Amino acid sequence: MAHDAPEATGPTKLVIRNIGLLLSGAMERPILDADTIVAENGKITAIGRLKDVNTEGATTIVDAHGTTVAPGLIDSHVHPVAGDWTPRQNQINWIDSFLHGGVTTMISAGEVHMPGRPRDVVGLKAMAIFAQRSFWTLRPGGVKVHAGAPVIECEMVEEDFKELAAAGVKLLGEVGLGGVKDGPTARKMVGWARKYGIQSTIHTGGPSIPGSGLIDKDVVLEADTDVVGHINGGHTALPDDQIRCICEGCKRGLELVHNGNERSALFTLRTAREMGDLSRIILGTDSPAGSGVQPLGILRMVSMLSSLGEVPAEIAFCFATGNTARMRALDCGIIEVGRSADFVIMDQAQHSPGKNILESVQLGDLPGVGMTIIDGIVRTQRSRNTPPAAKVPEIVGH
Ligand SMILES: [Zn+2]
Repeated sequence: MAHDAPEATGPTKLVIRNIGLLLSGAMERPILDADTIVAENGKITAIGRLKDVNTEGATTIVDAHGTTVAPGLIDSHVHPVAGDWTPRQNQINWIDSFLHGGVTTMISAGEVHMPGRPRDVVGLKAMAIFAQRSFWTLRPGGVKVHAGAPVIECEMVEEDFKELAAAGVKLLGEVGLGGVKDGPTARKMVGWARKYGIQSTIHTGGPSIPGSGLIDKDVVLEADTDVVGHINGGHTALPDDQIRCICEGCKRGLELVHNGNERSALFTLRTAREMGDLSRIILGTDSPAGSGVQPLGILRMVSMLSSLGEVPAEIAFCFATGNTARMRALDCGIIEVGRSADFVIMDQAQHSPGKNILESVQLGDLPGVGMTIIDGIVRTQRSRNTPPAAKVPEIVGH
């Protein structure tokens, strides 16, 4: 049903009022002093106190009933294939399930589970362009899936990257999942990709499945991708001394994933914090994968890093929103005028300890999702997947 999510048919004006806590997604100021957001035609137009903003002509009014509003969560590392189906664990509606976990944007790290995935240059380019087009046309539940992420092979030449960019491809899949596993070749191709505006990521750590290979610190640093994909491994991580070398040896994004080594994720977090570099931390699930498909994976990472990594919950939410948006040049992820009106509305889970949602997350619990909004349109109400929220928002007027 969610595949037929309502599209805006005319001008829209969304008002969210009675916000109890507003998380900005931006680490430099993670909590905003406001109780109302206005969004027109999918973009945020005002943030402030109800009496100070213009709510006239609203097409949808949401009473947050004192709950918490945050930017919609971004999963920086997914492996989609076609529509809302994954052959990896043979599930349908997995993207819709992630939406119920607060995820409104996903970034493909390669459509590597496509049955019969082509590895010749013409075939891999065609598949990337197809994936980019099909996920831009079909947004399961409204979720923005940035897909079309080719996995590089040794036979590629500069002209291939120029052609992919001209066709709308903006991402590379994980370097290392194809034939290119050495530093010099990876560096050359990542450079070509960057020249034409294509972002890159790399498979860091041990092999994920038979046929893939080890990518160690030397290859990661030489390849110099924009994001150090799953620095905590997917599945298995590099030794701590190599993780430290990567953190210190570059200024690229440090991606922590659910389907990796949690101890290594905490080691990376502590290293980045010592360096004053928490703005480099971004979160993904690295799913669907052998470890499964986790609709609550991003919330679970936020809670795990906040509780075991001793990071204030409002900062941990920035790892899954503003940090990723800035690193990947997305117009969502931060509550700011002009950005996409993509939100998750949450509250402390029922019977969870702590005096508010932030304390309960810092104690290791998940919040309850009460509503998701993408492009200013309500997509889901009380989540079918999270623990029930103590308070839920309500649509009170159209
Ligand atoms: Zn990987």
